[in-house]
Amino acid sequence: MNTHLSDLLRVLARWRAEHVRVLDQAAAINLDRVRVITPLVAALNAVHVLVFLVQVLGTPAGTTAHRWALGLLFAHLVMGLTMLGAALLARHWHRTHQSRWGQELAVGLAATSMAFAIAVACVDQWVTPNITPFLITCAVAGVALYIRPRVSAALYLVAYAVFYFAIGLTQHEPAQLLSNRLNGITACLMGAMLSVLLWRKFTTITLQQGLLENANAELQIKQRELERATRQDGLTGLFNRNTFVELTHRELDRAQRQGSPTTILLLDLDHFKHVNDTWGHPAGDAVLRHVATLAATTVRSTDLVGRLGGEEFIVLLPNTTVNAARNLAEKLRQRIESSPVQWEQLSIPITTSVGLAGTTAQEKRDFDRLYSDADKALYVAKQQGRNRVV
Ligand code: GH3
Ligand code: MG
Ligand code: MG
Repeated sequence: MNTHLSDLLRVLARWRAEHVRVLDQAAAINLDRVRVITPLVAALNAVHVLVFLVQVLGTPAGTTAHRWALGLLFAHLVMGLTMLGAALLARHWHRTHQSRWGQELAVGLAATSMAFAIAVACVDQWVTPNITPFLITCAVAGVALYIRPRVSAALYLVAYAVFYFAIGLTQHEPAQLLSNRLNGITACLMGAMLSVLLWRKFTTITLQQGLLENANAELQIKQRELERATRQDGLTGLFNRNTFVELTHRELDRAQRQGSPTTILLLDLDHFKHVNDTWGHPAGDAVLRHVATLAATTVRSTDLVGRLGGEEFIVLLPNTTVNAARNLAEKLRQRIESSPVQWEQLSIPITTSVGLAGTTAQEKRDFDRLYSDADKALYVAKQQGRNRVV
């Protein structure tokens, strides 16, 4: 028995924690629903007011039928005005993005509707023993609005207490009164159960949706990281070989359509093996990152810089003649020579050889040809003593 009770308390505690997390969403949905439902109910009330007005005018004053019609006319009038008020409030809060008020509005609307239903059921007792309006309202309030179980339980409990006493005011036949009071219990229990069931379902779905959205967002981040990893060189952040070649093909096509020249620079650090051998591989990596930064910051944003592998870099200069590219290559060579890498209190001098190759739109040299020409030029630069542009 004790374990059952503690299990139940644990479940309720978990529910409470879950409910707090979905209150905002519930409030927003309630506000939307109140916005749609209330004008419809107000219109229905207006129709009732008209029907009962005709009834009031058509029946002699002082008769039960007259009293009944007058009572319902008044009840529908009050309810219709209340619904209009709720509709205006809902519209205002929706327009001003204050959806948090949706919860209070929903509870207020459910309470008012039940009070109205009790009044109508009581007035009805003058002509019929049924309590249909109360039954329907209990069910509709449970289905149409998302109300927290504890609030919902209190609402139906109070509604039943009011119904219990109020129905005794107009129903004086003891058996009928007992039957109505028992039916009232069913109505309230049914309404409360529907309300709790739907609230729980809403909570579960909303929380699962949240989990899915989070998982999706994480997946997208991972996908972007993966995309970056397949496009970039991990050490320097420059384009890797495949991406560079792909982008260069596109750029050469474009240059040929527009009739503009294109030049590539092939950079190979001089005696890089010596850097690794003397200061170690981490120092060599720092040199590679440093040269990558220098290259990327020396060229224009429309130029492409890639790392082919090892200590070889490649730069694509769109819309640039070989002569103009030579100036840029010389500038880059000088920058590399004049900025030794600072690494763990060491200053590591570095130089680079550059091979250059270009094409005009008429020459239509493709990437493989340009790469091969630049490689030959680079070989010559190395042969001529390194630290130069050929
Ligand atoms: P040269 O002036 O003729 O170009 O001489 P070099 O020593 O630069 O040429 P070589 O091709 O013989 O050496 C390239 C070296 O680059 C060999 C390898 O240890 C080193 N290397 C290649 N990739 C990396 C890397 O990712 N990190 C580091 N630290 N070194 C690398
Ligand atoms: Mg090399
Ligand atoms: Mg080298």
